Amino acid sequence: MNDLPAPPKRIALVGAGVIGAAWAARWLLRGTDVAVTDPSSDAPRIVSQALDNARHAWARMGKTPKGEGRLSFFESIDAAVVDADVVQESVPEILELKTQILTEIERSVDATTLIASSTSGLKPSVLQEAMKSPERLVVGHPFNPVYLLPMVEVVGGKLTSAETISRAMTLYESAGMRPLHVRVEVDAFIADRLLEAVWREALWLVNDGVATTKEIDDVIRFGFGLRWAQMGLFENYRIAGGEGGMAHFISQFGPTLSWPWSKLTDTPELTEALIERITEQSDAQSGDYTVRELERIRDDNLVGILLALEANQWGAGQTISKLRG
Ligand code: NAD
Repeated sequence: MNDLPAPPKRIALVGAGVIGAAWAARWLLRGTDVAVTDPSSDAPRIVSQALDNARHAWARMGKTPKGEGRLSFFESIDAAVVDADVVQESVPEILELKTQILTEIERSVDATTLIASSTSGLKPSVLQEAMKSPERLVVGHPFNPVYLLPMVEVVGGKLTSAETISRAMTLYESAGMRPLHVRVEVDAFIADRLLEAVWREALWLVNDGVATTKEIDDVIRFGFGLRWAQMGLFENYRIAGGEGGMAHFISQFGPTLSWPWSKLTDTPELTEALIERITEQSDAQSGDYTVRELERIRDDNLVGILLALEANQWGAGQTISKLRG
């Protein structure tokens, strides 16, 4: 079974750090030619390492590409984006920089090129303010590692056309991903709103000396994190309500919201002492491994979970079957 749309012939990536490099890897493995521009002299090495990780991970999934796309590096945005069907920017999360890069990109592409931003939470309406043809700007917010995680949040701004949204949805499907159209434009979209809520609460737990970074991570990875990977939040809570389902769950746990059990409206000040406590605990938790080693371990774990989900034809596992073709 392979009903994926055809991937684009050539995609240009502006910015090749953690996210841009992983976008490069996913597209190359889908057979798309990738043109990269990034002023950092580290960029070729970072892309090459991401590609290496991605090849390893896809091979473990039994997914060997029919032919990898060609990878090339360019010194300027103009040179990289010319002839690209799609341009995706993944430069640092600084509004002024992104605005400048987006206007530079649109100066060098033809009228039909789709322009996407990997921003984690800046509203596309703000990003497109200075653009001459803002209707073709869309946010495609991916998740790290982009070559493995299927979700990408597709967000349009006030001036984004319906056609652009539809093209973006098809584009990311062609990458073997599971695009979700975020219908209402809000800061940080859906995912980072959820993640930031958990992150704030975790910072409080460390700040108040309730738990260490390791204890918090253990609660997640040995507990509800395993549930989240396969059924999300609401479906799990529905089951937690027993035969009474969600209604029973809410009647049982609804009152805790006003007790309250969380401190979400408030965040501890990130004092030097708190930052030091977090970094020391995190070093003690993971310091035996380099980041590269941790990446490989993380990816192998994710492949295991994805393959298990595929065997059940459930959730994210279904996207792997489609990639397998
Ligand atoms: P990063 O710092 O790892 O990479 C940014 C890259 O942009 C660097 O390689 C830098 O050299 C390059 N760059 C800077 N100025 C440039 C320019 N003028 N032209 C071309 N390249 C330039 O950052 P990242 O984590 O890859 O984040 C990039 C974007 O992706 C951000 O908008 C971020 O919010 C978003 N994002 C990050 C994550 C994540 O988990 N790291 C997840 C989803 C989305």
